[in-house]
Amino acid sequence: NSFDLVIVNSNFDDYDPLRLCSQLRSLERTRYIPLLIITEQGHDDMVVRALDLGVTDYLIRPVDPNELVARSLTQIRRKHCNDRLRASVKQTIELAVTDGLTGLHNRRYLDNHLKILIDRALARGRPLSICITDIDRFKSVNDTYGHDAGDEVLREFAHRVRSTVRGADLACRFGGEEFVVVMPDTSADAAAAIAERLRTIVEDRSFALPNSDTRLSITASLGIATLNPEGDTAEALLKRADTALYQAKNNGRNRVVAAAA
Ligand code: GH3
Ligand code: MG
Ligand code: MG
Repeated sequence: NSFDLVIVNSNFDDYDPLRLCSQLRSLERTRYIPLLIITEQGHDDMVVRALDLGVTDYLIRPVDPNELVARSLTQIRRKHCNDRLRASVKQTIELAVTDGLTGLHNRRYLDNHLKILIDRALARGRPLSICITDIDRFKSVNDTYGHDAGDEVLREFAHRVRSTVRGADLACRFGGEEFVVVMPDTSADAAAAIAERLRTIVEDRSFALPNSDTRLSITASLGIATLNPEGDTAEALLKRADTALYQAKNNGRNRVVAAAA
């Protein structure tokens, strides 16, 4: 349950009230719940230690019921206010790393995380591949059906990318109509198979337009590159995938090209 306040009674023989408080403070689930401890007169040292452990308020016996209610309400109100603040900070952080149109991670997130994933793969001697995909002739979708139609295609495209790759893969909107998928623990061969599956999933099912019966045939070109186990950087890896994508475009679009190892 999500509790708003824990009141700890300190006059039991069979448990250590401070230990309980310290446990409540250290568990992720309970660390933000206010703690009110009720102690005996003359136990000042316990109060000091309790406050030290992060107990939010205390009462000394005999307890005046009105004071108990007043102090409890203060703690509960403060908790609700802090909960709202934390949720708002969390939402702001999420917005900063999320693409508003597609809900995928944005380029800023990719820039931060690709380095981390590469370092981890190199340290563990594991493969890692990335795929850049760019929608073919997307400008003509906007030009023919309007920007809103283009946006809808981007949303659906992102949805297909996300649902085609594994949960552990990082799918991002790189910008415009370009998307990047980072695939940890994925060899060049496996990445080629996944990219081909992605290409097919885009080509095989037409895209619906908003408020219209028209369905659009869309294709995409894909470039893939695999981490060099001798040492590599995010920039170099992205560059190789991008060069492969450029080749896919030049070779006639709607295809996958793998960067030379
Ligand atoms: P290619 O096959 O060579 O990739 O051709 P293309 O038309 O897809 O490439 P180009 O880079 O010329 O055009 C990309 C277009 O994507 C142009 C731009 O208006 C459109 N675009 C970029 N971001 C958005 C967006 O957020 N919404 C919509 N609707 N269009 C976008
Ligand atoms: Mg492009
Ligand atoms: Mg394009």
